[in-house]
Amino acid sequence: MRLLLVEDDLNLSRSLKIEFEHAGYAVDTAMDGQEAEFLGTTENYDIVILDLGLPKLSGLEVLRLWRQNQNNVPVIILTARDAWHEKVDGFKVGADDYLGKPFHTEELLARVEALLKRQHGVNKSGLSAPGIELNEEQQTLLINGQQPIELTAVEFRLLRYLMMNSGKVLSKAQLREHLYDNENEHDSNVIEVYINRLRSKLGKDLITTRRGQGYVFGKKM
Ligand code: CA
Repeated sequence: MRLLLVEDDLNLSRSLKIEFEHAGYAVDTAMDGQEAEFLGTTENYDIVILDLGLPKLSGLEVLRLWRQNQNNVPVIILTARDAWHEKVDGFKVGADDYLGKPFHTEELLARVEALLKRQHGVNKSGLSAPGIELNEEQQTLLINGQQPIELTAVEFRLLRYLMMNSGKVLSKAQLREHLYDNENEHDSNVIEVYINRLRSKLGKDLITTRRGQGYVFGKKM
């Protein structure tokens, strides 16, 4: 899951980036509205955290431009505490959720996760497939209720993205784009390596290769 964090408070931005990376997100940051608007238009994000008070272009303007251009990326706005009118304006322009400052990072993380699941039509209680459960907090895998299996950071990111998009064909380029941030872009071929590692943990049947197209997660009907 790739996230754009738009926040002009450098300390807050840095600490949130670290926390979200720990939670398995690829995080790009923008410090002002123009940069945010540009990144959100040119890159493919799964979700955006958008502060409203920004230099150059306000968060509301950024969101308005995206929505005008049919960019429907899920957006959580960060509003000033008790500023009810900011929430109303935000929703009118097309925000999906909001959080008032100051907030606990845990709440922002929980809201991001809930919004992503809602967008993908995934069961709120967690990511699972027959016989398989992904523990997102522990970043472990449970197969048929056996001992949890540890996943590396990349394996976890990849599996979560596959499970979130279960049944859809995902190309290597698409997977790469959603697993890495701007600073850490990788060759699409590494995806194949990680797919094979996941298969060795999950069993071979859950991830199918579609020649020339990509991969599909889920048991065949
Ligand atoms: Ca601000």
